[in-house]
Amino acid sequence: MNLIVFDLEWNIGWQPWTFRYQGAELTLRGEIIQIGAARINERGDVLDTFEVNLKPRIFRKLQKHIAQVTGLSQGDLDAGLPMREGLRRFVEWAGPDAELAEWGMDDVPVLKQNLFLVGLDEQWPARWYDLQRIFLQSYPRQEGEGMTLKSVVERLGIPQDEPFHNALDDALYTVKICRQLPLWDGLAAYPTDDELLVEALNPSSGAVDIQIFNGLMDHDAYKNDPTLSRVACPVCGKPLAHDEVWLKRGNTGYYTMSRCAVCGPWFTRFKLSRRDGLCWNFARCTEPVTPETEARWNKQRSAAIERMKRKAEKAAQE
Ligand SMILES: [Zn+2]
Repeated sequence: MNLIVFDLEWNIGWQPWTFRYQGAELTLRGEIIQIGAARINERGDVLDTFEVNLKPRIFRKLQKHIAQVTGLSQGDLDAGLPMREGLRRFVEWAGPDAELAEWGMDDVPVLKQNLFLVGLDEQWPARWYDLQRIFLQSYPRQEGEGMTLKSVVERLGIPQDEPFHNALDDALYTVKICRQLPLWDGLAAYPTDDELLVEALNPSSGAVDIQIFNGLMDHDAYKNDPTLSRVACPVCGKPLAHDEVWLKRGNTGYYTMSRCAVCGPWFTRFKLSRRDGLCWNFARCTEPVTPETEARWNKQRSAAIERMKRKAEKAAQE
């Protein structure tokens, strides 16, 4: 395996900046200003490192708080490599078969957005890992314990010789954490994207017909796209009729009551993820209705209708 542990620093703007991707409008999460990376072997030995500062084209003025946190100056950015050239060098250094590992899940989506914006292949890397997930298997989280790189470095007693929030130093701190983990086992057992999404969906024990729909651009595809929204009754196979109200569940989950004319009600549930910062992926399941879940549905549905009514009244007054 060609494993690259990496970290990015990025700049943001005063207001959101949007761009078109496959017909959809996306918001740029950040423009990369620094890349640090280390190629490691199975023991966690560093074989090679990569480091570059980039000159932003979109968010050209370095935000004050980002300057404070990273120690970078406007001059560092202005002297950085042009965005496309710096990213191209990173991709070339890492290699087409690189598998990227990062502390958390924030950097790969930013990387892919930036690759796309300079005309490089945003499908790269094909595989990447959140090392926090592997860490948590060995060190389950206790009450009050932070998950920032600094707090975990502290917790593991790793000497803090370098500042945090320099991309290469952060990547090397991450490598030091990796050395205290059964890293290769963790990577081998790491779930696929589809498995991660089903895990996030968290289907109840009675859930059936669990399906994944990948690579969609419309956030509302779960109710607008028949490929996703057409659900068959798990018992008789007849099409279910969804309620007109979809309720939110968690940050990126939606569900509704779906009736079979013969067998009665079910719940249709979706979980969304935009793991790569570009496309929406959906996991769907059909769940049986219990007296408790039905009561909760009725209560939350009434509240949602009440909210919509108040919103419409307010809009009419203005
Ligand atoms: Zn039925």
